[in-house]
Amino acid sequence: MSSNDSLKSRSLSYHEEPVPGKISVISSKPCETQQDLSLAYTPGVAEPCLAIKDDPASVYRYTSKGNTVAVVSDGTAVLGLGNIGPAAGLPVMEGKAVLFKRFADIDAIPICLSKVFTADGHTDADKLIAVAETLEPTFGGINLEDIAAPACFKVETVLKERMGIPVFHDDQHGTAIISLAALLNAVPLTDRSLDTLQVVVNGAGAAGIACAEFYILAGVRRENVVICDSHGVVYQGREKGMNPAKERLATSKPCRTLAEALVGADMFLGCSVGRCVTQDMVRSMAAKPIVLAMANPVPEIFPEDALAAGAYVVGTGRTDFPNQVNNVLGFPGIFRGALDVRARDITEEMKLAASRALAEVARATIPAEVKAQLAKAYPADAAAGVFDGECPVKPSYVIPKPFDPRVVPHVARRVAEAAVAQGNADAPIADFDAYEAALVK
Ligand code: NAP
Ligand code: MG
Repeated sequence: MSSNDSLKSRSLSYHEEPVPGKISVISSKPCETQQDLSLAYTPGVAEPCLAIKDDPASVYRYTSKGNTVAVVSDGTAVLGLGNIGPAAGLPVMEGKAVLFKRFADIDAIPICLSKVFTADGHTDADKLIAVAETLEPTFGGINLEDIAAPACFKVETVLKERMGIPVFHDDQHGTAIISLAALLNAVPLTDRSLDTLQVVVNGAGAAGIACAEFYILAGVRRENVVICDSHGVVYQGREKGMNPAKERLATSKPCRTLAEALVGADMFLGCSVGRCVTQDMVRSMAAKPIVLAMANPVPEIFPEDALAAGAYVVGTGRTDFPNQVNNVLGFPGIFRGALDVRARDITEEMKLAASRALAEVARATIPAEVKAQLAKAYPADAAAGVFDGECPVKPSYVIPKPFDPRVVPHVARRVAEAAVAQGNADAPIADFDAYEAALVK
């Protein structure tokens, strides 16, 4: 049996046994006696109903809304599998719920939608918006997931305007936040600064566009970003395959191919397809280039090839290489922080705070007990000294590991602080040190 066959059969039985699927609802209150029954349901349940009718904000007091997130998808861009439809996407959304629970103790409910498509099977943004915006009474936040570009941009923008709870498309912003965290540490490591950084992004879909715009928000100059898609460089005046998100990033530079764009560049960010970057392309970049090759499962260039061609800091989306840009570093802590202060939105400031929090965790000396935990989860890295040093940041470690127990508490704290500082929180927290300490598991 090949290793692929073995993974296939193990995964299918993991999902099937002992009960189908990966999540279930558990009751947080006892329901064993006649009296419990009369409190959980009629007649007692009428009391919180009436209290909420009189004071709508008390829904957060008497229901699970404040700790419940909807994972909303139409299945049009599932993992690297493409437009496989909402039912086929359900295992991914259940998986997301598992991660929300495991890393941040948030209850996430998959909502996979049918009938939100155009006649040719793509996302109809207006139909999806019309359904998603009705979810606000039940959920404390909305995680949009695996919705194809460019419809995903409109869906999120409009929902953020119309809804009073946080709406966050993880495929866009999770990737942007975590890769920026890597960049925040890689830039000083390579004696660079954001305001002069020359960036080439390959892939102008959900992830590539969001990363480029977020780096610009963080201080990279728009004129120093070149973005490419399946037709090559996205340049001003190009007509083929354009959309408004690409127009905003179209370059005035004369380069027309990825290879031309990379000459002299400081950073390559790949959110495209496997094996489209060669060693010669890396050799043509500036000295000590930063290469984040995040196409999954096959990166734009494998780390050993990029390093052999002179790349200095290399990251991918994969668990088996250094510097994994894994979205699980972001969304659990971001939603934890946003829910805990009852933020009305996840703002750009909160996203930047999340990136900075991740970069801070990577720079902080790793306490002995955390080191012991990391050594268990990542024995090869521990043996190679990755977690050593007063400031452990090094080319092979510019972002923390997903199983680092400091990540979620620190990201949640910084996100919550940013929301409160902006006046974007209905339930502000006063003592953030105590808040962060209480989140550590
Ligand atoms: P997407 O919305 O489908 O966008 C894909 C983009 O890649 C499109 O702009 C497409 O061009 C472009 N593209 C396709 N073939 C190309 C080629 N040969 N050269 C250059 N560009 C090409 O997908 P996405 O959600 O942004 O994700 C893109 C990739 O990044 C996937 O492999 C995904 O797994 C990976 N990713 C990884 C992480 C992570 O590891 N944390 C997070 C997010 C995404 P057109 O616009 O011309 O069609
Ligand atoms: Mg996704």
